[in-house]
Amino acid sequence: MLMMNRAGRAGWRSAMVLALGAGLALAAPAGAQDSGARGDLLNATLWMQKSVEYKAATLAAFTLARMRLNQALADRKWTGAPDEQKGDFHNLPPAVVLDVDETLVDNSGYQAWMAVKGASFTPGTWTAFVNSETAKAIPGAVEFCKYAESKGVKVFYISNRTAEEEPATRRNMEKLGFPMGGNVDTVLTSREQPDWTSAKSTRRAYVAKSYRILLNLGDNFGDFTDAYRGTEAERLKVFEANKDRWGREWIMLPNPTYGSFESAAFNHDFKKTQAEQNKAKLEALEPWKGQ
Ligand SMILES: [Mg+2]
Repeated sequence: MLMMNRAGRAGWRSAMVLALGAGLALAAPAGAQDSGARGDLLNATLWMQKSVEYKAATLAAFTLARMRLNQALADRKWTGAPDEQKGDFHNLPPAVVLDVDETLVDNSGYQAWMAVKGASFTPGTWTAFVNSETAKAIPGAVEFCKYAESKGVKVFYISNRTAEEEPATRRNMEKLGFPMGGNVDTVLTSREQPDWTSAKSTRRAYVAKSYRILLNLGDNFGDFTDAYRGTEAERLKVFEANKDRWGREWIMLPNPTYGSFESAAFNHDFKKTQAEQNKAKLEALEPWKGQ
């Protein structure tokens, strides 16, 4: 995947697609089962698919989200999109915005496929996975979305899946029980409108024109801020500037399998080879000096 990307990934996926389009990447080499890519995915995917620790972490996130939803509903000054929510929003109807991949749906089957096959992300195999409609619900996700809907809160999905992938995405999510918006288009995919880039602020601004956004849930920094593609130091600075928002109006789901955290280590330069990316990631680590 672009590692990861996949999914929706935010931006990340787009960067990868660009890199692939430029002929730069990443075909899985023969014998890739011993590659660094597999090593990266093995523990992370095992944790997502098999651990009770992952399930407990996501349930906790959605339990917190439910409490924050109630708090936000009672406080008309509250907004989960402080950078996009403009003007007199206090009496707008309430909404929540949520990322899809690895926030609400679990695509670890695709990751596991890559780990087992020694394959790397390609847009073609990713779209085939999306079209298989086999993504699973992340523990607590459907229940949270239904709870929000039951409280009269519109549930918007802001995903970097593409317009081409939207029909299968909708069917997959509907089968899992997610509320799909009725007569409102609540699935906002990348490039559905010209300014809806993989950076998500324009889509939040679109929702914020008609709704008071109570909460934002995601698994990637880019689900919350367009400043996700900076260096690690720059990302840390933005993170710290928003410290009070985490666990309040912004709630992060765990995703160890891919994301901008990974590409930050190699400056989001998807022209780098897998070996170069792995080298940069190793160099980013802060190891014990040893005995
Ligand atoms: Mg995601």
